[in-house]
Amino acid sequence: MKLEKALLFNPPVGLYQRGEDRCQAEVDGGSATSLRPPNDLGYIASMLRQIGVTPFIADYPAEKKLWSHFEDDLKTIQPNFLIMSITTPTIEDDMKAFSIAKTLNSEIFTIAKGAHFYTCNREDLKKAIYEVMDVAIVGEAETVINNLIHAKKNGADLSNVRGILWRNNLNQIVQTGQEPFLTDLDKIPFPARDLMKNHLYVRPDTGEPQATIQTSRGCPSQCIFCLSPLISGMKLRERSVGNIIAELEECVNEYGIRNFFFRADTFTMNKKSVIELCKEIISRKLGIAWVANSRVNTIDEERLAWMKKSGCWLVAFGIESGNDEIQKRIKKGTTRTQAREAVNLCRKLGIKTYGFYLIGFPWETKEMIMDTLQLAKELRCDFSEIHIAIPYEGTEFYKIAQDLGILTEKAVGHNYFSNPAIGTLHVSKEELIQMRKKALRSLYLSPRYIGRTLVHMKSFREVKNYARYGLRLLIQNYRKG
Ligand code: SF4
Repeated sequence: MKLEKALLFNPPVGLYQRGEDRCQAEVDGGSATSLRPPNDLGYIASMLRQIGVTPFIADYPAEKKLWSHFEDDLKTIQPNFLIMSITTPTIEDDMKAFSIAKTLNSEIFTIAKGAHFYTCNREDLKKAIYEVMDVAIVGEAETVINNLIHAKKNGADLSNVRGILWRNNLNQIVQTGQEPFLTDLDKIPFPARDLMKNHLYVRPDTGEPQATIQTSRGCPSQCIFCLSPLISGMKLRERSVGNIIAELEECVNEYGIRNFFFRADTFTMNKKSVIELCKEIISRKLGIAWVANSRVNTIDEERLAWMKKSGCWLVAFGIESGNDEIQKRIKKGTTRTQAREAVNLCRKLGIKTYGFYLIGFPWETKEMIMDTLQLAKELRCDFSEIHIAIPYEGTEFYKIAQDLGILTEKAVGHNYFSNPAIGTLHVSKEELIQMRKKALRSLYLSPRYIGRTLVHMKSFREVKNYARYGLRLLIQNYRKG
């Protein structure tokens, strides 16, 4: 089969964090979340170039483009195969892309990728809507893609390609063996940023272009709600400092990007590498600004001081619950005291904080949820996100919710985080929604928060951007009470 041209794309089905497999939230559902570049597609494009394929990347929602534009691209580019990044809530709508493509060219080879395929019910895949999908990647796409294309090109049996789900000649859905996690991340080429519209992915406050740089994969923690250990493995795999620096320099020198999100399951997990990276950024005089995520127990003053010196302006913490009993049950392994210490340390060093909280675990009473909302108020992070916990298939949380008989809705087609798939044993779904909205209103719309934020703004552009996010928050959280 001729496989020379590929269109890699996010379909025009709303703004979701696609490719960010553990957090597939709708961008507008978050309080201050910004859209991130499709690095997952960029990595695959770079891999494909190594085997002589010409890739094209289109992020239709980010470009505000419609199905008609997708059709136009199919006609103009005439790709031999498609690679689409899907999310669990949108998968049914996403598949429209493959239907359109197969109508125009019944020979086109269609591949989908996304966390959904690690965990989804195999019976679901037999449904008509998935008949337009030839293969789904179940594993790290960069390690799977070239073997898959090579096998398809040569008419080989796909059962020998590890890390895929596919429909065989007998119309059976077959999953092949697992492709092991790549141990040396330096072997993955940098994402093909020359194919991305980098100006669309911006820092939420200043509106400057912001690139995502993956620094490591894997997380040894076992939080019951998180897909990361399944998707990226429980062993921390780090890129070398030299390799990260080379990508940063490429962004600065070739694309003029000076703002970065260092993406990792937990960026601050390995103190030695964090400090080494910071020192190298300083010694190379890169003059960049960056943000990263952390756990409240993998941070200390020494690490933070180096981070600040090298341009870190914000750290995001998964604080989750403000009730220590719930923290234990969800196996987060951190406490309220550690959350206070981490946020205070950031404040002391002049680094902004973004606190992520989760409510809606099965055992939670209203009082326990109030502990979380109270902690969010007490910590006064610069940005706060209160999500309603979602039982992703494949997590321990999913199994618990199922065993307790409180799992009533499927995640497919479900709008994550602001709209619960379950209530708790003591609090209904509707009450969870109202508690979340009320808490976000009281956090962001308090005169104290507004005053503090205004004082720290440095330009009219920042004022404008904060106003835009504030408006989004108002609309979301005053809608239906
Ligand atoms: S610390 Fe917990 S929430 Fe964070 S990536 Fe690891 S398992 Fe997931």
